[in-house]
Amino acid sequence: MSNLDLRPAPTVCGGRQDVTARPVRELLAAKQVPLGESTMVRRLLPNLGRRMVGAWCFIDHYGPDDIAQEPGMQVPPHPHMGLQTVSWLHDGEVLHRDSVGSLQTVRPGELGLMTSGRAIAHSEESPREHARLLHGAQLWVALPDGDRHVAPMWEHHAELPRVTGGGGLRATVVLGELDGAASPGTTFTPLMGADIALAAGTDTRLPVRPDFEYAALTMSGEAEVDGVRLAPGSLLYLGCGRAELPLRADVDSAFMLLGGEPFEEKIVMWWNFIGRSHDEISQAREDWSSGSRFGEVHGYDGAPLPAPELPPVPLKPRGRTR
Ligand code: MN
Repeated sequence: MSNLDLRPAPTVCGGRQDVTARPVRELLAAKQVPLGESTMVRRLLPNLGRRMVGAWCFIDHYGPDDIAQEPGMQVPPHPHMGLQTVSWLHDGEVLHRDSVGSLQTVRPGELGLMTSGRAIAHSEESPREHARLLHGAQLWVALPDGDRHVAPMWEHHAELPRVTGGGGLRATVVLGELDGAASPGTTFTPLMGADIALAAGTDTRLPVRPDFEYAALTMSGEAEVDGVRLAPGSLLYLGCGRAELPLRADVDSAFMLLGGEPFEEKIVMWWNFIGRSHDEISQAREDWSSGSRFGEVHGYDGAPLPAPELPPVPLKPRGRTR
């Protein structure tokens, strides 16, 4: 997915000073962002109140939308740098094409994981013949300095490990590890992401890592996470310092638990790029505009997305950079 803001704001994130070492319960509201002509997404990260959770730096939740009479998702070719994208669906399907030659339909419960490394371009679309409902999340993971220039790659994992817990908890491990079960998806920093379904009446505790910070994103229903009832459209930041997470649900619910070791490097995020300086971002923008570095996406019926204008003020990562 692309950030389709016509005037995307630069975001500086990372660094320990934003991280809450003890458990907290910060409820963050989504911002409604148009994606194309017919779709609205709920952007949970970056958020006015918080910019990263571990290396997770971007969260869009969309749907469920009835797209029976609509083209659905139509995101033209656009570039990425310095990050991984995670495509995760509850309903529908997304056809992914990219400049390393991948052509893959991602379906509910399957992980579409794209590592942009130094440069990749991709498009995402609902196939012509598609399911009535489209519902999912698009997440980005920042790459650490030592790995952000790796060669671009695409991974599709149709089989992911599952974890079952007390009283109707069923989790799918999307990235990283949960309760001893590990996703096959490639990661570059210690982090985890899981889709957790709670059957009505569930009242349990999930083991988590005290050195990770966590956040919960409701996908459906109304999960109660550490006593906070979470309707879709909000993100609950939980901080670090927990060994277990109390979970309850009065109705069938599903939420994503995202966590990771606090990301200590300062990064600059603008449009679809993550870099460390204004010049890097500016160069990436120029390379995309001139058709170099990012490669070509074949088969998408439409023109690539033009890069928006850079803001007049230079982008600066604040504080210490590493
Ligand atoms: Mn994208």
